Parts: sequence; structure tokens; C-alpha cells
Amino acid sequence: MIDNIYKHISDIHLYDGETKRMKCPNCGERTFTVTNSKGTLLWNCYRLSCSVSGQKRVRLSVDDIKQRNSRSVEIDTEFVLPNYIIPHRNKRAVLQFCYKYELEPDDIGVMYDVKEDRVVFVVKHNDEIVDATGRSLKNKLPNGNVMEKAPCLTPLVVVRSQ
Ligand SMILES: [Zn+2]
Repeated sequence: MIDNIYKHISDIHLYDGETKRMKCPNCGERTFTVTNSKGTLLWNCYRLSCSVSGQKRVRLSVDDIKQRNSRSVEIDTEFVLPNYIIPHRNKRAVLQFCYKYELEPDDIGVMYDVKEDRVVFVVKHNDEIVDATGRSLKNKLPNGNVMEKAPCLTPLVVVRSQ
């Protein structure tokens, strides 16, 4: 019977991650599913009185491998905001910084970096954070004067979704 199943499933082509439901080669009901999971075909009939199941490695097609590689690249380039960057929660230093440069904190998506004590501007694209850039709130001048130089915002592009 297992040979029949091999024959049955070898006729169908499934892409990596794809599942198909079909007539069960054993009981004849449409309760039989086959899934291609990373090059392993997993099959199972969920009719209680039948319960045919098994798995078999298959070779991934070149297209499947290409598809999988491009998917992993996408995951690698995804920007994840570090957990020490938090909403500004109206922190005084952050607000002072913003108002000093006439920025509206909630309009430009300002956040606060707990670790470095700095203002962080997040760069959004289609409501997803794609990058962030920070400006220190620490006074770095030895004489205690607040730096009057405007913060460099050149690399920052705030893309607002429509
Ligand atoms: Zn069955």
C-alpha cells in the first residue's frame, strides 16, 4: 500500500511550503493532504477510520531553492529596533530637544534610547520601521554650555505612509 502512496504523491508537484488536499489513495475520501516541507513530503489522511500518514524526502527543484534563498535574504535585511529604544513618554530632555529644533515629537516618531541617553528618530516606510538614527542628549562640552550647533539630520528621511 505504501508503494501506491509513493506513486500517488509523485505525480503531484508541490512547491516548498505548499499543501494540497486530494482524494485519499486508501479510503477514497477527500481527506488526504500532502505538504512539501523543505523538501520532505508529509502526507496524512485525517479520516479517523483510515489514518494513513507518512513522509518522504524529495529533491527540491531549482526554483524552490532560489525562492527559499530570496526569502532568507528578506529576513536578514529586516530592521529590528533594539529593545533599549523606547517611546519617548514625554521625557523632558527629549521634548526639550525637539522643541529646540521646532520638531513635533509625535509627528516625526521620536523615541528615546535608554542605553545611550539619546533621542532616536525612526525612519518609517509603509508603517514599518526601516531604520533609526540617534542624537545624544548628553552635554559633551567641557565648559557646560549646550551645543548650539543644529543636529545633523541630513541622513534622515521620514517617509510617511499615505
Ligand atoms: Zn484515507
